[in-house]
Amino acid sequence: MEKKEFRAESKRLLDLMINSIYTHREIFLRELISNASDAIDKIYYKALTDDSLRFDKDSYYIKIVPDKKNRTLRISDTGIGMTKEELEENLGVIAKSGSLAFKKENEIKDSYEIIGQFGVGFYSAFMVADTVTVISRALGSNEAYKWESQGADGYTIEPCEKDTVGTDIILKIKENTEDEKYDEYLEEYRLKSIIKKYSDFIRYPIKMDITRRRLKEGSENEYEDYVEEQIINSMVPIWKKNKNELTAEDYENFYSEKHYGFDKPVKYIHINAEGTVSYRAILFIPESIPFDYYTREYEKGLELYSNGVLIMNKCPDLLPDYFSFVKGMVDSEDLSLNISREMLQHDRQLKLIAKNIKNKIKSELEALLKDDREKYEKFYKSFGRQLKYGVYSDFGSNKDVLQDLLMFYSSKEKKLVTLNEYVSRMPEEQKYIYYATGESIERIEKLPQTELVAEKGYEILYFTEDIDEFAIKMLMSYKDKEFKSVSSGDLGIETQEDKNNGNGDDDVSKELFNHMKNLLAGKVKDVRASKRLKHHPVCFSSEGEISIEMEKVLKSMPN
Ligand code: ADP
Ligand code: MG
Repeated sequence: MEKKEFRAESKRLLDLMINSIYTHREIFLRELISNASDAIDKIYYKALTDDSLRFDKDSYYIKIVPDKKNRTLRISDTGIGMTKEELEENLGVIAKSGSLAFKKENEIKDSYEIIGQFGVGFYSAFMVADTVTVISRALGSNEAYKWESQGADGYTIEPCEKDTVGTDIILKIKENTEDEKYDEYLEEYRLKSIIKKYSDFIRYPIKMDITRRRLKEGSENEYEDYVEEQIINSMVPIWKKNKNELTAEDYENFYSEKHYGFDKPVKYIHINAEGTVSYRAILFIPESIPFDYYTREYEKGLELYSNGVLIMNKCPDLLPDYFSFVKGMVDSEDLSLNISREMLQHDRQLKLIAKNIKNKIKSELEALLKDDREKYEKFYKSFGRQLKYGVYSDFGSNKDVLQDLLMFYSSKEKKLVTLNEYVSRMPEEQKYIYYATGESIERIEKLPQTELVAEKGYEILYFTEDIDEFAIKMLMSYKDKEFKSVSSGDLGIETQEDKNNGNGDDDVSKELFNHMKNLLAGKVKDVRASKRLKHHPVCFSSEGEISIEMEKVLKSMPN
């Protein structure tokens, strides 16, 4: 039998591949710039190990030149360039990464900063261009070559002229169609904003000639255009700076520049982690609730960078739901640039980073609670409810992370207290942590059920939010002290003598209770005498796990 090879429609395959990896067309520029930056890194790396080479920082840059008349966009770099063979190898074979090979050949360890290694980024140029031309001269060679392609049907290579080492990539930008617009990739301001968005922290200058307007010399109302070369990217990101170089104001500026929020964050966290996984992160705990926070529309997540290049705007896998209010970014050299969302979810490095971040947020919130209670309470007013949801969801498995961050209003202190504070004040004979549920503090204070507990001198936590009691049920106990509702049947306070005495089993009482039960048939299960009432004649109580308040909530929930 004859064995045949599969034939793939390569152009369609290329389209498919590009479209499944990239969600936004504009990222072609990010990919080409990161390749250019890699190419400069490679010269830098060679210079480290080769004494005959000098790395003079000023002569290394990336330049972006749009040309509307010819509909071209040029991305030039002064990097290591490519020989004829390298052009064929690296650009002629899809999914072949010259950068990965370079890392291997030079035994560069993984933490080294070269970004590329997937060998597909370059082809994203075909999302916006009909023809891609690459003119390159390799380091140490006098010859230059021109590679050209209209997509996956193939490419041509021929010798050409180039005075300096490096690479020019020239994109022939597609014509607009009815549904798709490409003109924007020739507009200065648009290119500038794409560079700012994705490549702001590339280590080498990204230059552009920007057209500006000024008053003509000696004239009061005549203007003239002139061109000024500008560096578009800020190069050193704040998270790569040393903490001691930075002020609180720097962080606050970053917070507002990034549009994380309009408020002033109650806390910023700057992490520089090295070890099993290396990453840097700047995280913020906001003070006020984003308008859509407690809605379905709200998207949690942190910005994710791979070595200074933005991969994802909101990476949800970096934050547990209960910390979904945290804003900020993570940059790691251990992540690949072209990694897709689906792959990210399974990325081991990413999981490690997420775990690290979670623990850090927890400890920083605990520190805030300890050191600046006023600020913590501001934060808690906004996001305490989310923490309680966190305790409730996942069947209480997050309780170790969250229980010490919770606060409730205390009958004794008349302010928010933590569970730890409550327990440490408990008299020795007190068995339970008591709580009372109600619509407001004022209403709870009037509850007859609180009387006995209060008279005993015990502190009561007031639960005014629906979620409170549900969360506590998941916690079950704190430091071995169980929670007990003041309206539950057995408060664990009455002595045996109390119980035996006047428990309403004399005939007169029995008759009265039976009568009441008949009158209230279907509304109450039983009518009993109680020892807990002091000033009120009667109160409701519940027997099972579900309290009266919880029942109300459950009944009000849509099915
Ligand atoms: P990756 O960057 O993941 O390796 P790309 O498809 O982006 O994959 O690029 C393929 C290869 O082409 C790179 O690994 C590199 O060897 C080479 N290359 C691309 N652009 C340049 C450039 N501007 N200068 C030098 N080499 C480049
Ligand atoms: Mg690349």
